[in-house]
Amino acid sequence: MNPWFYKPDKMFLARLPHDGDLLLSIKNVFKESGIQMGFFTAIGAVKTAHVAFYDQRTKTYTDFIIDEPAEILSCVGNVSEVDGDISVHAHITLGLKDGTAKGGHLLEGTIIFASELFGIALDGQRLERRFDDITGLKLWSS
Ligand code: ZN
Repeated sequence: MNPWFYKPDKMFLARLPHDGDLLLSIKNVFKESGIQMGFFTAIGAVKTAHVAFYDQRTKTYTDFIIDEPAEILSCVGNVSEVDGDISVHAHITLGLKDGTAKGGHLLEGTIIFASELFGIALDGQRLERRFDDITGLKLWSS
């Protein structure tokens, strides 16, 4: 497959707001900074989480709530474009009190206790997500 090449434009750190929505807060940081393409990681803790699992056979997301305080062991994702707006695609791994981990595709409704974001703004071609028949997902296409 053909990769798209970028130069790192700038990198940043941001403290995300207590009681903020994790997905929307990440989007806001990129949007308010005028960044259209990027990559990020975040760590911290959430009060409750809303995530999804994509069923490859039925091509549908099943969402579920992890309704307990949890550590953000890892939240990684990227920023590109969908329908003229920036789109944040993120996955999250959460550590629970008993040491086990749960996670999935990050959805709105994940409430921040505390979180630190590290982001990289990428300089280069803007990628747009378009519907892909084979997977049923909105994937990058140039
Ligand atoms: Zn995903």
